[in-house]
This record gives sequence, structure tokens and C-alpha cells, in this order.
Amino acid sequence: MPSLPAVFLSHGSPMLILEDGRAHRFLKGYAAELPRPTAILIASAHWETAEPRLTAGAAPETIHDFGGFPAELYRMRYPSPGDPALAERAAGLLRGAGFPAGLDPARGLDHGSWVPLSLLYPAADIPVVQLSLQTELGPEHHYRVGAALRPLRDDGVLIVGSGSLTHNLMRLQRQAADDQPPPAWVAAFEDWIADKVAAGEIAALLAWRARAPHAAVAHPTDEHFLPFFVALGAATPDGRGARIHHSQTYAALAMDAYAFP
Ligand code: ZN
Repeated sequence: MPSLPAVFLSHGSPMLILEDGRAHRFLKGYAAELPRPTAILIASAHWETAEPRLTAGAAPETIHDFGGFPAELYRMRYPSPGDPALAERAAGLLRGAGFPAGLDPARGLDHGSWVPLSLLYPAADIPVVQLSLQTELGPEHHYRVGAALRPLRDDGVLIVGSGSLTHNLMRLQRQAADDQPPPAWVAAFEDWIADKVAAGEIAALLAWRARAPHAAVAHPTDEHFLPFFVALGAATPDGRGARIHHSQTYAALAMDAYAFP
């Protein structure tokens, strides 16, 4: 089985699907660099539950969990099949690691999943299981969740954390050109994360809230950065990750992506 990385993706605004730009082009091209996954397990910043939950329906619906966007976006569907057997196996791995994981047969895919997947795998022919976050439990918890799921990678499952490298909607410059340089606080936060990933400094990354520059403005709340830790946890121990994409939309929304071997 060819080896797939664990990946963190910044999913941006739903407009990412419709508007050309650096992150749009990256996502459209990235799948060609990967072996074809047998299935995708994706943790989304837009699904928060008290305990880990996995979508377990055979045909998860497309959830349009956003407001005020063009009608075209609400007509979009991402009709990938689910994978109830994978959901069951993932829940078993999580329970084995001490997490009270459960299945949700009714839950569909929110835009944290289907926006990036529509660009990565537009044919929607790879089964997808979505995983929820427990935001109040912080980075260490999500790192351990990712580690518990690591064995799925041996079966060709692409483990994805879908969030945003920075996520402060009050600071977006909605008229900014796609290639406008970011504000200094965005660049400093991006660079700190990239440096720590390149150096394999897991403890520093887990302590990002206290240690990363401008953490409070980069992430007023945690949920869009926690999927990063699911991907980091699913990495091979001591495997150094790499930043595989670096850009911003609306100047301040960092769209960086990481792959962990
Ligand atoms: Zn989001």
C-alpha cells in the first residue's frame, strides 16, 4: 500500500470553490501528488461535540452551514459515499485509546470537509468519514486522537485536519487581492508554525496558545486550529512535517497546508 501523508488543510471561505486564487489552485492540483486514498477521514473545525463522533451513514448529505453566500454554493452537493465500516474501525481505535467515541449515522459533511474536498477530489468517488472536535479539550487531546487513528494510514486512508492556519474573521480585508502581502501578525504566526514543524518541536506546537506570536489575534477561538493537531498526531513519530502550501485570502486568512509523513 503506497504511503499517504497525514495532512492539514486550511479550508478558507466557501468562496474558495468559486474563486480562483493560490489556495484554490493548490487544492485543485494536490491530489495528483498523492497515491489515491482508499478513503478519507477528515476532522472539521465546523463539527464540535462533547466526545469524538464519526459520521457513519452510507450516503452523507452535504450540509450548507454558512449564510450570505451566492445561491450557487447552496446548490452544490458533494455526493461522496460514506464508509460505515471505516467509521466503526476508527471509533474502535479511539475507544482502545480511552476516548468514548461514538458513531453518528445521520450527520452529513459540513463545509469544512466538502469545500476542500470538492477541489481535491471533484469526482466525489472516494468514501469520506468526518470526525468531530472537542474544542474545550485543547491541542493535546486532538494530538492523541490523531495518534490513535494513525493505524488507518496503513490501509490507505487519507487523514485530514481541516481548519485554518489563522482565523480571525474580524481582521479580514475582503477587498484584498489574492496576492496582497499579509499583515505582520499573520506572517509572524505562519512563520513560527512553519519553523516548529520543520524542527519537529511537537511540545512547542502543543503550547502554541502561550508561545506562538500573536496567537490571540490569529485565533480568537481554538476550533479552527485544532484540526492541525489531529494531523500532527497522525504523523509518524519523529517524522518531520513540511509546509506544502503558503498563501492568504482576504490578506489575513492564512491558507497554509502541511503534510506529515
Ligand atoms: Zn471554517
